[in-house]
Amino acid sequence: MSTVQEPTPRWSTLASKPSSSVIRDLLKLPAGVISFAGGLPSPEGFPLDEIAKACQTVIAKEGKHALQYSMVEGEIALRREIARRETQKGIPTEFEQVQIVSGSQQALDLIARIFIDKGDKVLVESPTYMGALQAFDLCEPEYVSLPCDTEGLNPAAFTEEVCRGAKFAYVMPTASNPTGLTISEERRKLLCEKAREYDMLLVEDDPYGELWYDQQPPASLRQWAPERVIRLGTLSKILAPGFRLGYVIAPADVLDKIAQMKQAMDLHTATFTQLISAQVFSEDLLVHHLPSVRERYKTHAKAMLDALEEFMPEGVTWTHPTAGMFIWVTLPEKMDATEMARDALAHKVAYVPGEAFYAGSAVEKNHFRLSFVTVDPERIREGVKNLAEVIRLRI
Ligand code: PMP
Repeated sequence: MSTVQEPTPRWSTLASKPSSSVIRDLLKLPAGVISFAGGLPSPEGFPLDEIAKACQTVIAKEGKHALQYSMVEGEIALRREIARRETQKGIPTEFEQVQIVSGSQQALDLIARIFIDKGDKVLVESPTYMGALQAFDLCEPEYVSLPCDTEGLNPAAFTEEVCRGAKFAYVMPTASNPTGLTISEERRKLLCEKAREYDMLLVEDDPYGELWYDQQPPASLRQWAPERVIRLGTLSKILAPGFRLGYVIAPADVLDKIAQMKQAMDLHTATFTQLISAQVFSEDLLVHHLPSVRERYKTHAKAMLDALEEFMPEGVTWTHPTAGMFIWVTLPEKMDATEMARDALAHKVAYVPGEAFYAGSAVEKNHFRLSFVTVDPERIREGVKNLAEVIRLRI
């Protein structure tokens, strides 16, 4: 019998690029570990009954339409509901301004493809969302990292030199991933004024804006500069990440380019989940659901903040989020949170080392991200106690 020769893969340059495995390895968690490393929303918050009801209505009312191909821009019913919800939040929005995408992660990819050529300047917060860096990296930009302080991105970072020629600045205004920080209204306004002054686009990524604890965050950057803000939203955190539904609200010329690019990538986003979501929104099925998600996240955040206060040694600081899912911890400068992650695992607790959230060479190693929404409050306390012991041994 002749032997079959293994094929020689002739990978593209892109596929051949080495990708960092440090974080991936760390996240392969052994059993029994209390994981603050995940970025998933709490499945306890998935509105199963509401979705089951909407699903039945869609099948009964428009089943054939729901299973058919659709338009690249997205289903009008969902675009209308999203425009209505955005308008309710204070920014008048028409459905024509809304493009549906397969999760806001796809929006990040599309934005990279329509704006970035190799070597182009892109401004990012430091630290920033790891998934945005992964999406942008494929188009090989030159990043400029904008330093953040305890109130998030400081508009003072937008100088003429920094902004000159930049394709866009990528900003998370509310409950940033990873820091949990929310940018104040005054700073939002100033960022927009600077973007106008230096003729720059702002990509506003806002997956956590509805997950506030006590008080609604300030309005979208669109309020201050609608003509230069590309706003990304998602249903992942308020409905179901498995639906893979996000949206882009942007000026018409940007939307046109996004639609053209998306057509080439995947024709359109799944019709079925779009219609189910439109149904959920049109019947206001989330009216009771969203407040309970907010309450749960607030309780978990408090449990973690209380535990940090109780157990962390002197010299360790952390952010105090008012929305979202993350707390950012800063160790004394000499410490390395990537190295320490292995000790933490030995003490049955996991986090994401901060280095994953920095662009290019602007890496700081003395931070880590804690996610608290998928761990019960008693386990949060136990996990933070373990973590504090690990830190105490190294400090
Ligand atoms: N942006 C940020 C800041 C995120 O945290 C996430 C999810 N972790 C996304 C975008 C992607 O979300 P999705 O694709 O599920 O909409």
